[in-house]
Amino acid sequence: MSSSDLTAQPPLIDKFGRQVTYLRLSVTDRCDLRCTYCMAERMTFLPRADLLTLEELDRVAGAFIARGVRKIRLTGGEPFVRRDIAKLYTALGRYHDHGLEELTMTTNATLLAQHAGGLVAAGVKRLNVSLDSRDPETFETITRRGDLDKVLGGIEAGLEAGLKIKLNTVVMKGRNTDELPDLIAWAHELGMDITLIEVMPLGDTDEDRFDQYVPLPMVRDQLEAKWTLQDEARTDQLGGPSAYVRVKETGGRIGFITPLTNNFCAGCNRVRVTCTGRIYMCLGQDDHIDLRAILRASPDDDAPLHAALDRALGAKPERHEFAINRRGQAPSLARHMSMTGG
Ligand code: SAM
Ligand code: SF4
Repeated sequence: MSSSDLTAQPPLIDKFGRQVTYLRLSVTDRCDLRCTYCMAERMTFLPRADLLTLEELDRVAGAFIARGVRKIRLTGGEPFVRRDIAKLYTALGRYHDHGLEELTMTTNATLLAQHAGGLVAAGVKRLNVSLDSRDPETFETITRRGDLDKVLGGIEAGLEAGLKIKLNTVVMKGRNTDELPDLIAWAHELGMDITLIEVMPLGDTDEDRFDQYVPLPMVRDQLEAKWTLQDEARTDQLGGPSAYVRVKETGGRIGFITPLTNNFCAGCNRVRVTCTGRIYMCLGQDDHIDLRAILRASPDDDAPLHAALDRALGAKPERHEFAINRRGQAPSLARHMSMTGG
C-alpha cells in the first residue's frame, strides 16, 4: 500500500467560508440488497476495472487528511461486499496517528458479524447501520431480498465487540411508518440512537417517489403524541444534516434528516468521493471532478491531486436543489445514492 504524502497542506475552505473536514468515501457501487428507495430491482453495476484500487482509495484518503479532513466514512453501495475491504479499513486505521480523528462506516450490517473485530482493531469506534424494519416481511419487501436475521446478528456482534451503533431508518409511506415507535424503543433499549431520513429523489428505483415520501415533521408529531421530545443543541452535530431530540421516556436520541422540508446546507463540512474517484461537492448537485484520471496520470506526485481538490472546493455550491416532483415526473437527479455514497 502506498504511503500518501501527509505533509500539511492548506485547509479546504470553500467560497462560502465552509471548511471541509469530513470525507465520505464510496468503495463500491455494488450491494447484496436492493432497497426500494435506493436501487432498481435490476441494476447494472460498474466494471470492476472502473473502481479505484485500494492503493488509490488510500491515496485519496491521505490527500484529504493532509488538507485537514478529520473524519472519513466508508460507504457504498455496501462497503462490506468489496472483497478486500478489511485490508482497506485496516490500512486507513494508521491515519489515526496522522490527524484522522474518526474512521467510520455506513453499512446494511448483513456482513458486519465477520468484520466487527477487525473494525475495532483498526480503531473504528462508531458505525451507522441502516435498518428500516424489524418485521421480517416488511424488511424483505423494502430490501427486495434481505434476511433480517443476518442484519440483527450483525448489529448484535457489533455491539458485543464494543462498537457504538447508530441506526439509519428511511421513512417510507405505508411501509414502516406504523412500526417506527417500536423500532425506536428497541434501538434505545440497546443504547443505539436512531436517525429518521426522508426519501431523497436520487436515481430511478422502479417506484414513484411521491408514493414513498413522508414529510418528517408529520412523523415527529406522531411521536410527540406518545413521548416527550426534547430538542438538543446541535453542538456535536456541527455540519451534519441531523436535528436531534432526546426522548425523555427512553433516554435515547432520535435524529431527523429532512433535506426536502428543511435545507441543511449552511454548515456543510463534507464532500463525497465515489468508488470511481469522482469528487462530488454536494449530494444534491451533479457537478463533479474526476480524480481517477489525475491519480493514474501522476502516480508519484500528489501536486495535481491537490490542485484538483482546490478546483473542487472552488466549485462547491451553496446548497442542494432536491425536489420531489409531481407524480410521474423523473427524479431530480439520475444518480443513485449507491453511486455517490450515502
Ligand atoms: N449500504 C449501506 C447502507 O445501506 O447503510 C451504505 C450505503 S447507503 C446508499 C447509505 C444510506 O443512504 C442508507 O442509510 C440508506 O438508507 C440511505 N439512502 C439510500 N437511498 C436513499 C434515498 N433515495 N433517500 C434517502 N436515503 C437513502
Ligand atoms: Fe444497498 Fe444500502 Fe442502497 Fe440498501 S441503501 S440498496 S443496503 S446501498
